[in-house]
Amino acid sequence: MNKHSEVDVLVIGGGPGGTPAALALAQAGRRVLLVEAGQGLGGTCLFEGCIPSKIFREAAARRREIARAAEFGLALAGSGAAPDVDWPAVQARRHRILGQRAQGALMKARALPSLGVLFGRARLTGPRSALIETGEGSREVRFERAILATGSTPVRPPIPGADLSGVLDSTGLIEIGAVPGTLALIGAGPVGVEMAQIFSMLGSRVTLLEGMPRILMPVDAVLAGMLAQRLAADGIALQTAVAVKAIERKQQQYVVRYARGDQEAEVAADVVAIVAGRQPNVAGLGLEHTAVRFDRHGVKVDALLQTGEPGIFATGDLVGQPMFAHWATAQAQAVARHILGHDAPYPRPEHNSAVIFSYPELGMVGLTEEAARAAGFDPGVTEYDYQIDARAQIGADAFGRLRVIYDRKDRHVIGIHALVEGAADLMGEAALAVRLGLRIDQLATAIHPHPTLTEAFGVAAQTAG
Ligand SMILES: Cc1cc2nc3c(=O)[nH]c(=O)nc-3n(C[C@H](O)[C@H](O)[C@H](O)COP(=O)(O)OP(=O)(O)OC[C@H]3O[C@@H](n4cnc5c(N)ncnc54)[C@H](O)[C@@H]3O)c2cc1C
Repeated sequence: MNKHSEVDVLVIGGGPGGTPAALALAQAGRRVLLVEAGQGLGGTCLFEGCIPSKIFREAAARRREIARAAEFGLALAGSGAAPDVDWPAVQARRHRILGQRAQGALMKARALPSLGVLFGRARLTGPRSALIETGEGSREVRFERAILATGSTPVRPPIPGADLSGVLDSTGLIEIGAVPGTLALIGAGPVGVEMAQIFSMLGSRVTLLEGMPRILMPVDAVLAGMLAQRLAADGIALQTAVAVKAIERKQQQYVVRYARGDQEAEVAADVVAIVAGRQPNVAGLGLEHTAVRFDRHGVKVDALLQTGEPGIFATGDLVGQPMFAHWATAQAQAVARHILGHDAPYPRPEHNSAVIFSYPELGMVGLTEEAARAAGFDPGVTEYDYQIDARAQIGADAFGRLRVIYDRKDRHVIGIHALVEGAADLMGEAALAVRLGLRIDQLATAIHPHPTLTEAFGVAAQTAG
């Protein structure tokens, strides 16, 4: 291996916040080195996050659908019962899909002559240099510019017993060897809610503990409330506004002790997982050799994602909330365009989209009603109830709501939020409407195909006050 090299751009981290920038810069002919400390290109999203959790959700949701076959006039042998879960087969499918995707990403990168990919751990040694430790020794790199995209890792709150062996985080849940009989999850953010429903649909008895008064802060409060009712109806024991006091090991189980006000309670479970947020990966990155600054929320950047060190940028989970793969990718692409000298806009938080892959899915783009008010808008809200929707009734999932938030002054759409099974794929239109600043009457006159969940956009817009 060449022990010294010089590149135009060093990209540290091969996840959604790093790889797209490396590809775009190399496609434009820049000499780029992409360094990844893990097993392949794809980051948390591919190996521990978006993709594996959605592979599990797919198995869990299909199991639930099969158990409802009779509703569709389909008789199964042993009807009414959900199929047994072959967990090793679910895990084998995860490994297969992850392997294919990682290989595809590497082939795409290796096809670019000016892009080098190195598996190792990078540490900055100065404002224009880094040391990369690989299994075959170390290598020094000098660079003109660098993009830091080292992502985040799960937080372990200082709860007594949180460090007991066997207490899992989201990564541990992805790698779990069996579906637990009982599962206690600490944290009802996106990961906690998704995991609660996945394991509940797979047959676990689930308790979900949350410190805030409601689940999924700061998601649309009306839709989060409806989803919380659904969790309860599906048999998930949801406890909000609780403080977890301790986790203890008792024989073969764990006991989680918690309090609401001065009322103490406990729950016993085969598996406990803490899914209470993520912290940016700044440790060991050598930031002290540069003018890059950070706090517990992440690396400090300006509107162009430049750190305090000229020429060094940071993207994705490393710069803090919102922590989503598509947001990290949008930032990576924006930094690449900036380095290439293109005068293109940066992604704006008020245009961002997200999906919580709950059951049903909860999709969102732009501002909530509360956030719009806080930002100084006079927000109007128009709604559509999926109970009366033809497509939702056909799919036997006639539950949920669409909420369109618009500015009463100029009637531009500023937020769209949907709770319905299929909401994930509604967010494409929602993202365009918010990004392009459509007026509510333009949304009202778009022709939506029948019978689809998208008709809700038109109906809601037509009934806006
Ligand atoms: C359970 C779960 C489910 C999720 N589901 C979704 C979802 O459905 N949709 C969605 O949009 N988001 C989802 N996310 C969030 C998403 O995974 C992250 O927002 C996204 O991966 C962030 O991308 P990133 O590139 O900033 O960081 P990462 O994906 O974490 O990538 C950082 C990479 O940097 C590498 N690295 C770290 N330090 C070094 C170093 N010193 N040298 C070299 N390499 C280094 C790491 O190995 C890693 O591969 C989920 C997360 C979790 C945990």
